[in-house]
Amino acid sequence: MIIRDARVIDGTGAVHEDAAVRVDPDSGRVEAVGDAEPRGDEPAYDLDGKTVMPGLVDAHVHYSLSGEASVVSVAAMSDAELALTEAENARTTLESGVTGVRAMGARDLDVVLADRIARGNLPGPRTVANCRSITITGGHGHHLGREVDGPTECRKAVREQIKQGAQFVKFMATGGVTTPGTDPNSPAFTDAEMDALVDEAHRRGVHAAAHAHGAAGARAAVRAGVDTLEHGTFLDEETVDLLVAEDVTLVPTLSAPHHIVRNADSATDESLRKTNDVYERHVESFRLAVEAGVDVASGTDAGTPFNYHGTNAAEISFMVEYAMEPMDAIVAMTGRSAEVIGLDDAGTLESGSHADFLVLDDDPLDDVAAIGDPRTVVKGGEVVAGDGFGSGGVGERVE
Ligand SMILES: [Zn+2]
Repeated sequence: MIIRDARVIDGTGAVHEDAAVRVDPDSGRVEAVGDAEPRGDEPAYDLDGKTVMPGLVDAHVHYSLSGEASVVSVAAMSDAELALTEAENARTTLESGVTGVRAMGARDLDVVLADRIARGNLPGPRTVANCRSITITGGHGHHLGREVDGPTECRKAVREQIKQGAQFVKFMATGGVTTPGTDPNSPAFTDAEMDALVDEAHRRGVHAAAHAHGAAGARAAVRAGVDTLEHGTFLDEETVDLLVAEDVTLVPTLSAPHHIVRNADSATDESLRKTNDVYERHVESFRLAVEAGVDVASGTDAGTPFNYHGTNAAEISFMVEYAMEPMDAIVAMTGRSAEVIGLDDAGTLESGSHADFLVLDDDPLDDVAAIGDPRTVVKGGEVVAGDGFGSGGVGERVE
């Protein structure tokens, strides 16, 4: 199949005007971008005036959560109920235009879901998953996570997860907003514990992600060698400089506090109090990081209170509103995020990459909000949501 005369944003930062994209239907991959003439009876569609861009890659989602005000109701679910909830959320995410994610796992379910999606048995984005977040006893996320204390238990927890198929390791370097009784600003693990977590992850060939709000916990995680820092809510200059020096990617998750603040009436008192304290500082931290040249990959924290699956594209709008150029924000949520989370051949439209893309009626470089309303969502060369190609759908069939 060929689509042609489209404006193609390729996820690397480049735009190809009046370009064609050839998709190999057998492999579901992009064969060529730029010029392509139909061969034999190969179908070709004219997408004049439309923009084609890679499907979004969200570097931080929680399939286990569905935007509930409190995580406590999720903790009460049976494994069966939670597994079905995760599958539903994965489908919703895909249909909104997100074709790749890094799933922050709960109760070891996400690696199973990721495998079913990869085999084509369930609809969902290509998913890089861990089993469950590793946290100190009583620490952030303990309801659905793995509580550990001491370097030996830290190593054991990493080994358990690798055994079950985790593709990365996530740990909680500070307290969190949504876990009662934890302080987002306080470091959680000791340095020795974090060293053990990161070292063991790297020895096993997977990357390490650290949840961190406070600067002291963030710095400790960076010094321990983490690959991505999640949230980075209270960053200061010292921490931002360290992120640059150590080449650590920040996943700012601006959507998370935004949705809690906007839903003040129904948020829990504790999460609202914590969020009001942090929202403005979070935006300031993000600006500081972007100005300093910190590498940014985009993730939404989808599933956290009122942060619903399927609204992931809003993160790009927040990044642009607060600090980034539209093209940089698009790359952060396509090519860059795919690379950072280890999702191979995804997030870009180049020869050999998966044919995962969106067709947009409006140019997202004029207004990135257009990305939230794709006309067509394609994964692996197949239309998975929105209009099909040709008569009655998007694009004229070229005869
Ligand atoms: Zn999260």
